[in-house]
Amino acid sequence: MKKRVIVLGSTGSIGRQTLDVVRANPGAFDVVGLAAGRDVSALAAQVAEFAPQAAYCAGGPVRTASSPAGTGSSPAHADNSAARTDGSVSRLVNAPTRYYSGPDGMAQLVESVEADVTVVGTPGMVGAQAAMAALERGQNVALANKETLVMAGDLVMRAAAENGAAVLPTDSEHSGVWQCLRGEDQAAVRRLILAASGGPFRTASDRELAAVTPEQALRHPTWSMGAKITIDSATLLNKGLEVIEAHWLFALPYDKIDVVIHPQSIVHALVEFADGAVKAQLSHPDMRLPIQHALSYPERLPTYWGGLDFARAPVLEFSPPDSARFSCLDLARRAAATGGTAPTALCAADEVAVELFLRGKIGFLDIPRMIERALDAHAAVPVESLDHVLAVAAETRQRLMAGMYSTREAL
Ligand code: MG
Repeated sequence: MKKRVIVLGSTGSIGRQTLDVVRANPGAFDVVGLAAGRDVSALAAQVAEFAPQAAYCAGGPVRTASSPAGTGSSPAHADNSAARTDGSVSRLVNAPTRYYSGPDGMAQLVESVEADVTVVGTPGMVGAQAAMAALERGQNVALANKETLVMAGDLVMRAAAENGAAVLPTDSEHSGVWQCLRGEDQAAVRRLILAASGGPFRTASDRELAAVTPEQALRHPTWSMGAKITIDSATLLNKGLEVIEAHWLFALPYDKIDVVIHPQSIVHALVEFADGAVKAQLSHPDMRLPIQHALSYPERLPTYWGGLDFARAPVLEFSPPDSARFSCLDLARRAAATGGTAPTALCAADEVAVELFLRGKIGFLDIPRMIERALDAHAAVPVESLDHVLAVAAETRQRLMAGMYSTREAL
């Protein structure tokens, strides 16, 4: 039987690659829900191709030939009656796609469609809310949204446990850990080691780092990703967030989660066991593999791209991260150790800092400075709910934006 898949953030990097995986495995998956932010025309094309039961667009309803204009937030109907290939059998899909929009629309979509797995590629708290909605329905979630676990890991893992749902690692590093841990006794794990490419500025001097432009930072040497995560990879904050995610996903204390710089991005994660044996997961740096693994688990499906060629003797290098030049990693560990709402302040401050950097308002090295200031100013309290997390994030953002110009010199 086909696995029913909802793809949230379907027009973004993770979403598009998820749909690639679906296309590459005809007969394995059925896309039953699609949600996108503002790219209405890309979403309309996806709806026409996959004919999901429901779709959501933050930018309002998708207008097709048969949907009346100006339907606002009320569900409109798209014409999906065209023939559609379903495995080897062509069938006519007569049921029109239901549309949702508005602030609660994505969660409404998740609640209205029966699915086996919901892929959460939507960034920010919108994605976190939708992930919670899916878990509360007992649906497995393939989680590519970082903020969800970083800001609300405790809430999310509790919701999953209480509803018999699983949070399936979808990031390459966590997928690597997950694959290494299969068949192993958790108690025998000595430590996890997450691989980091080191980003485009791995060997840059302090002076070069200070002069980095957004264009340079957006050019990642090994991975092709969205803008925010590419900058986070360049500062290594991304790896810090992944340490926090690993803590929640694999229920391990922070002192058992290490990071290693590995510029080739072939090894994604390593797990060291009590006897000193180390297992590593290797593959091409291609997000479609971890996405496919999350969708097909516990099965492994073939991929159409080739495997690694060891006859060409690839050089695999490993070195410790330089926390003096890339302080974001330590800032993430500091927020993690503080706990409660501190990781929320970390995420919110980073979001503001990256946005300002991309707009040319602050320098590359101002990103960690801004995050540090936010952590210094933040009095962490235990996380109560997603709404609480949202409020803390909004407050942190507001404070930073308000203080941006007046403290520009202090940065
Ligand atoms: Mg990653």
